[in-house]
Amino acid sequence: MNKPREVLLRVTDLKKSYGSVQAVQGVSFQAHRGSVFTILGPNGAGKTTTLEILEGIRVADSGRIELFGQTARRVTEQMKQRMGVLLQDGNFEPYLKVQEVLKLFSSFFHNAVSVDEVLERVALKDKAGALVSTLSGGQKQRLAVGVALVNDPELVFLDEPTTGLDPQARRNLWSIFQELQEADKTLILTTHYMEEAEELSNHVCIMDHGAIIAEGSPEELARGLAQDSIIEFDAPQLDAQATSALGGDGMAVEYDDGTAVLHAPELTKAMAGLLSWAEEYDVPLTNLTVRQPNLEDVFLSLTGRRLRE
Ligand code: ATP
Repeated sequence: MNKPREVLLRVTDLKKSYGSVQAVQGVSFQAHRGSVFTILGPNGAGKTTTLEILEGIRVADSGRIELFGQTARRVTEQMKQRMGVLLQDGNFEPYLKVQEVLKLFSSFFHNAVSVDEVLERVALKDKAGALVSTLSGGQKQRLAVGVALVNDPELVFLDEPTTGLDPQARRNLWSIFQELQEADKTLILTTHYMEEAEELSNHVCIMDHGAIIAEGSPEELARGLAQDSIIEFDAPQLDAQATSALGGDGMAVEYDDGTAVLHAPELTKAMAGLLSWAEEYDVPLTNLTVRQPNLEDVFLSLTGRRLRE
């Protein structure tokens, strides 16, 4: 077991409203150096507002922030020199070259690293002289990550870094984030992709309606659910008799958008029962899968909703 590292960021009872909308309602958490700390939640949960306060873009209505060992009401310029921020919509000038964008952003910091080093980190060396307008979506996002790294920050904020990217581009970014963590950076990530949180995070806070409703490592959160296995298969047109005959032996059955979802406390018993049921009612069990609970199930069990609805 690794020794716990120093707390780099601690937030206590943070609150922020926009008029009558209470976007962040008393949020507290801490992130350790060298870890990936993730806030997972659906649209409108308050993730961006929380991050923008920590990035120094917004000021909280109340609450306390401790960053790099200093307590502050609001993030200072000195703190900003030690952090990197992935802009949600980079929108870099299309007629600039990749290396020009990085040079420009480097000029804002006292402690900028070389453009070459950044290009290497975000795997864009071969695109150094390319115009922004010619980059793919994934390459543009890697450039945006590069911009967040020009000052070799200890702490990097990544607000929904892979939204809208294809799976390959998403995986490329994940490996860059993993390399950053290996280089002892602390990453604060927000996402509404359960797989992203599971793949990258040491610690996850699940946020909903401005509050943190559960936290822990992805494994701890999933373990907090009953140890049921989850069996799923396509069930678009089950008749009433077949539907009512499914279940038993403590197995809960739900139907979710044409998929039957079974929570099975005893997998072997459940599978035996399911197979004879399928034979009797002539159900093909298309796309049958068996899995253990994941963060999506944790969210569903806490809120009754899916992360992406
Ligand atoms: P998303 O994933 O959609 O970015 P989020 O979890 O980041 O969502 P926030 O953007 O922090 O959530 O929004 C939290 C709540 O505050 C939402 O109800 C949103 O409509 C509201 N909100 C956010 N920014 C503003 C603003 N500038 N003025 C008024 N209301 C706002």
